[in-house]
Amino acid sequence: MTQRFLLEGHKGKAICEKCANICSTTYRYRDVPFSDGKGLASGILVGVCDTCNTVLSIPAQSTPKIKRDRNIATQSIEAVLPAPYLDILDLACFSIDPNASTDFRKKLLLFYIHKFALGKFDVENISEPNPLFSLDHDISKRRLSMKVSKSLAEDFTKMVSVSKLSKTDFLKNVVGEIKRQVIDDRNKDVLEELRTIAYLG
Ligand SMILES: [Zn+2]
Repeated sequence: MTQRFLLEGHKGKAICEKCANICSTTYRYRDVPFSDGKGLASGILVGVCDTCNTVLSIPAQSTPKIKRDRNIATQSIEAVLPAPYLDILDLACFSIDPNASTDFRKKLLLFYIHKFALGKFDVENISEPNPLFSLDHDISKRRLSMKVSKSLAEDFTKMVSVSKLSKTDFLKNVVGEIKRQVIDDRNKDVLEELRTIAYLG
C-alpha cells in the first residue's frame, strides 16, 4: 500500500489524553522538542488536536527531518597540533583541489576518521605513535576546532579509543595517513572521492 502523503491542513483522528477523547486533528508545521529535552525538531508536520492544540501524532514522512535535526552539528572536536601537521593538511587539500574552500581541511580529516570508523581504512596503520616530524617543544602550535554532527563525534571517540592513543597522537597519525595516501602515493580511488567532495564544496 502506498502511504498517503500528508499536507498541512489535512485532517486525522487520534486519542488525546488531555481531552480524554478521540479527537479530530489537523496536520500543521510545528517545532517539537525531543523527548530528552535536548533540542527540538523544527518545522515538522504533526497532527495537532483540534480541541486542545496538543501534538498527538507524528507521521512517518516527518522522520527524515527529525533525524536530521537530531544529528545537527552540535558537538565539537578540539585539538592543538604542531603547525607542520596543519601545513601537511593544507598541502594535501591543495593537491586534491587548488580551489578547495578553507572548510575542506576539516572535511578531509573527518573523511578519514569516518573511513577508519567504517573499517574501510586499516586502523593498524595508525595505531602506533608514528610522528611525521621530530619537533622541538617550542614549535608553533595551532588550534584545530571542528563543529561536527553527533555521529561523527561518535566516530572520533570510537577511533581514538580503538587506536589506544591520545586524541592528539591519533590526529597526528591521521594526518600521517593522509600524507601517505594523498601526497606520497597519490592513491587514485581516494583522490577521486575527495575531489568530488571538494568540488561539491
Ligand atoms: Zn486534545
